Amino acid sequence: MVSPSEAYHSYVDHGICPYCKKEDAMLGRVLCFDCWKEKKELYNWYKSIGLCPRCRRENAAEGHVNCATCLKQVSEYMKRKRKRRKK
Ligand SMILES: [Zn+2]
Ligand SMILES: [Zn+2]
Repeated sequence: MVSPSEAYHSYVDHGICPYCKKEDAMLGRVLCFDCWKEKKELYNWYKSIGLCPRCRRENAAEGHVNCATCLKQVSEYMKRKRKRRKK
């Protein structure tokens, strides 16, 4: 049995879109054009209805695309990233 993340990487390694598992990935990208477009449209759609496109559960925080929970997660991730770079 192959784990989902292993399957994902094997598609990426072979240059196949792991989303639809059919099309070739775009050059320098993980997804094929159709899936990339779909994801982008989905993102814009969530944005337009005021729902966080990251978790797709909570409402977006005022003046932001993401919800408060995701904003906190992202800022903590960025903080950690910055710290690592300093070393
Ligand atoms: Zn695809
Ligand atoms: Zn969120």
